[in-house]
Amino acid sequence: MGVCGWLKKSKEEIKEIFDFCEGYKEFLNRSKTEREAVSCLRDLLLKSGFEEGKVGEKFFKVNRGKELIAFREGREGISSGLNIIVAHIDAPRLDLKQNPLYEDVDLALLRTHYYGGIKKYQWVTIPLAIHGTVVRSDGRHLDLVIGEDQSDPVFSIDDLLPHLSKKVQDEKKAFEAVEGEKLVVLFGSMPLKGEEKEGVKKGILKLLSDSYGMTEDDFVSAEIEIVPAFKAQDVGLDRSMIGAYGQDDRACAYPLVRALLDACSPRRCCVAIFCDKEEIGSEGNTGMKSNFLKLFLYELLEAFGVSPTDFALEKTLFNSKAISADVNGAINPAFQDVHERQNACFLGHGVCISKYTGHGGKIGASDAHAEYVAKIRGLFDRENVIWQAAELGKVDEGGGGTVAKYLAVHGVEIIDCGVPLLAMHSPFEISSKLDVFETFRAYKVFLES
Ligand code: MN
Ligand code: MN
Repeated sequence: MGVCGWLKKSKEEIKEIFDFCEGYKEFLNRSKTEREAVSCLRDLLLKSGFEEGKVGEKFFKVNRGKELIAFREGREGISSGLNIIVAHIDAPRLDLKQNPLYEDVDLALLRTHYYGGIKKYQWVTIPLAIHGTVVRSDGRHLDLVIGEDQSDPVFSIDDLLPHLSKKVQDEKKAFEAVEGEKLVVLFGSMPLKGEEKEGVKKGILKLLSDSYGMTEDDFVSAEIEIVPAFKAQDVGLDRSMIGAYGQDDRACAYPLVRALLDACSPRRCCVAIFCDKEEIGSEGNTGMKSNFLKLFLYELLEAFGVSPTDFALEKTLFNSKAISADVNGAINPAFQDVHERQNACFLGHGVCISKYTGHGGKIGASDAHAEYVAKIRGLFDRENVIWQAAELGKVDEGGGGTVAKYLAVHGVEIIDCGVPLLAMHSPFEISSKLDVFETFRAYKVFLES
């Protein structure tokens, strides 16, 4: 266990860290879904002179509103390779089912299907907000955000009172205590005047129609995400931590966009990828297994006067260096046994580099080469970045993966490097402000190198 990072910071530096994290909290509050994250990133990039769509010195492209790749030209051409950092902007949550609305016991309820790895019992009895996009059959979009404004209603999921849970819940394993189909969202309880049969559902449908011009059928072509309704907040009497939903992986996505904007005259061309679907295995045409990056690079090669062949593309990637910007699980004070302290990360000890991830015998890992780890470590030391090295938990305790392997297949040198979190994948994840800031500094010096 190294030295706590805060001990290495002066009063002025601590102020700089806290100021940086104000921007981070704003980003968290504005980006609860992947679509919202893209729109927030778009705003930040446009404000800093990046152009959307057209290939140029500083530009970005958006894939179906859910994935974004940004480019910044370096002093060298692209044939010497790129400096790439990839973070993801999807987060575990509850999605509404395609036919979600029903009425039972005079309550209107919404059926959900959870997305990503959640502990279901953490999602009951907390205030929830609704964020989403409804696309009507005529193609018109309707963006919904309910539960974020002070004057908005919020939503919630019931849990059984302790007086009655002894047999059906308390004796079960934690994993089974709240089953997936029980994650139904309370949506209303007042029947439409004079309607005795399914009156509450009818009342809700009337409200949806009057307020949003939406019918029950429109749910089928909607993407509505149920997320915690609370805002990002300082945690601890000393305000050294941040509690918020979605810090996996916005704790890396925000430092990444800031690093891209702030990098001073980068030597190599820089590519920042903000991808979707990491939490469900990088599937789909907005995840890292899809060809969006390839298409992006073909156009880039052409703009640099290189014939955009597969050979040219693979060669560019083979010469590239990358960081897989994702979070790690910091040592939990009450469950220290799942970690092996000598190779665990600690909150407040800086950005965490992981040579490998995976489970079992490193299954599914992209194991970074010692030569590359040495380069990264040397760079961080030279630039006084506060960093630590860790793997995720004890051997055979569990494990996890990142997108690193999807770039590694193209020959890219890549290592996992990001923010340690407490309560990862919970509705209220905890980060250290120092770690978020050091992650920004790490990404910045990497992009400049
Ligand atoms: Mn992640
Ligand atoms: Mn995750």
